[in-house]
Amino acid sequence: MLPNPSLRSAVATENVQITAAAGALVLARRVVVLTGAGMSAESGIPTFRDAGGIWSMFDPDEFATPRAFERDAGKVWRWYAERRRSMAGARPNAGHVALAALEARFAARGGSVTVVTQNIDGLHRAAGSRNVVAVHGDIHRTRCFDCRADGGEAGAHDASTVVPPRCPACGGRLRPDVVWFGEALPMAAVGRALRAIRACDVLVSVGTSGEVEPVASFPLRALEHRAVLIEINPAPTPLSAHADHVVRAGAATALPALVEACA
Ligand code: NAD
Ligand code: ZN
Repeated sequence: MLPNPSLRSAVATENVQITAAAGALVLARRVVVLTGAGMSAESGIPTFRDAGGIWSMFDPDEFATPRAFERDAGKVWRWYAERRRSMAGARPNAGHVALAALEARFAARGGSVTVVTQNIDGLHRAAGSRNVVAVHGDIHRTRCFDCRADGGEAGAHDASTVVPPRCPACGGRLRPDVVWFGEALPMAAVGRALRAIRACDVLVSVGTSGEVEPVASFPLRALEHRAVLIEINPAPTPLSAHADHVVRAGAATALPALVEACA
C-alpha cells in the first residue's frame, strides 16, 4: 500500500505512460535507445550537470579539454585514472540488463535495437548489449594525443612510472580515449548513430539532459521522419515537450517495466 494519495497518483500516471510507450515498442522493428549519464546513476556513477554531479565539483576547463591536457597532461591523466578507479566497482543496473534483453528479443524476430550512448563507462556492453555506439568514447581505452594511434587498455598503463604513459607508435603522450569539450565526435560513430536514428521507428531517450550538442539534436532527427519519441528521466528536459510518452522515473525502474510491458 502506497503511503499517500499524491505518490499513488504519480505511480499510476507512470504506469499509464509505460503501458502507452510499450504499445509503440510492440509495433516497432527498429529501435534506438539514446542514453546519458542518468542511465548509470543507479550503478553509482555520478551524472555531470545535476547537483553533486561531476561538473559541479570539477571545472571541465581544467580536466576535459585539449588545452587542459597541453597545460598539464599528468594532472589530466591522473584525474581520469581516479575516475576509472571510482568506476571499477560499478555494475550494470536493471535498466542496462533490460536493454540487453530487448536487443536479443528484437534480433530474434528480425528487428534491431541500437544503443547510442554518451556514457564512457562500458556498462551497456558489460550488461550484454552488442549493438552499442559509444559516441563519447571509452574511459577504459587510450589513444595517442600526438599521432592518434590506439594506445590499448588504460588499465595496462596503471603501473607506468611515466605519466602520462608514452605512445608505443611515436613516443607521444597517451590520453584517455574520450571526447573532450571542444573536440569533434568520432565520425564513424556519429555516422553509425545517425544511420540507425534515421531508420528507427521508436527512439527512447534515457537519462540525458539534452544539453550537450551534437547528441542533444539526435532525437530531432528521429522526429523528422515521425518516429515515436519516448523519454525516461525523473526530471524535465528540453526534449520533454517533443516526446510522445514521458516516463518520470529512474532508468533502473522504468526500463525493466517498459521491456516487460511489451513482451
Ligand atoms: P547530464 O549530467 O547532463 O544529465 C543527466 C540526466 O540524467 C539529467 O537529465 C537527470 O535528470 C537524469 N537522471 C538522473 N538520475 C537518473 C536516473 N536514475 N535515471 C534516468 N535519468 C536520470 O549528462 P548527459 O546528458 O549524459 O550529458 C552530459 C554529457 O556531456 C555526458 O554524457 C558526457 O559524455 C558529455 N561530455 C563529457 C565530457 C568529459 O567527461 N570529458 C566532455 C564533453 C562532454
Ligand atoms: Zn603516438
